[in-house]
Amino acid sequence: MENIIEKIAFLKKERNALILAHYYQIPEVQQIADFVGDSFELCKIAKRAQEEVIVLCGVYFMAESVKILSPEKTVLIPNINAGCPMADMIKPEDVRNLRHQYKEAAVVTYINSSAAVKAESDICCTSSNAVEIVNSLPNEEIIFVPDKNLGSYVSRFTNKKFIYFDGYCHVHNNITLQDLERERKLHPNAPVLVHPECRAEVVDHADFVGSTSRILDYATRSEQKEFIIGTEKGILYSLKQNNPDKEFYPLSANLICPNMKKTSLASVLSCLEDEANHVECSEKIIEAAALSLNKMLAVMSQKER
Ligand code: SF4
Repeated sequence: MENIIEKIAFLKKERNALILAHYYQIPEVQQIADFVGDSFELCKIAKRAQEEVIVLCGVYFMAESVKILSPEKTVLIPNINAGCPMADMIKPEDVRNLRHQYKEAAVVTYINSSAAVKAESDICCTSSNAVEIVNSLPNEEIIFVPDKNLGSYVSRFTNKKFIYFDGYCHVHNNITLQDLERERKLHPNAPVLVHPECRAEVVDHADFVGSTSRILDYATRSEQKEFIIGTEKGILYSLKQNNPDKEFYPLSANLICPNMKKTSLASVLSCLEDEANHVECSEKIIEAAALSLNKMLAVMSQKER
């Protein structure tokens, strides 16, 4: 184990590489990463980085987003088969068909989507900024893709009419109200913190709804000592690292994304050794997808002023 960590550190220096890991990665991978964060935080870190090579430990759409915002960099993914079933549910032609049906609507695309789908959109959003993004648009109708659960959560904070695509994250969508009630009985003093990719009835009964970063932030700032966590189990590692004196209980034993677990120390090492698994997109897709992502950034920077 130590040997492999040393080899990764050596090659990282030799290749002028930066290793980024998503919160849902296995603890060993989070430990060797230069930064751990949610998908959008990782894109921003990659863009600012001096390193020429970015090794993105996560799923494919995340590595694509890094490439879209930093096309001049070499972006590698340790396991090329780490996909996202939700991102794969929607194709660019689905977006074109919806546009054709609802001509007055703006297409808002969750960052958990392929580069080709982002390229068909008017603007992107994250689970943290989706409400602000939707409310920044002049259109009264919103085509929200691909996550119907996030879309339905966002629709609570606006009067706009939503047209949903039938996509969902199987990890979050599988959480049931029964899971929530069972865990509340087991841990009556623990607030329930859930991701907005969960179903509406789970969101309705939670104490806090937020992205992975916001869940981490909420638990860290809170004076409470135990929490029930309704998002992928990988986050428990960062929660515990930041809060060694607090207890965290997963809302369900099944909160595991198999694709997020496809990255191992061995795959990080071999990707660095061979400079393998390059993430590539056509120039046309990069240009169009960057437009959607940059529009989101422009809305957010206006809000921050
Ligand atoms: S946790 Fe859900 S949205 Fe994230 S990669 Fe896995 S399937 Fe996709």
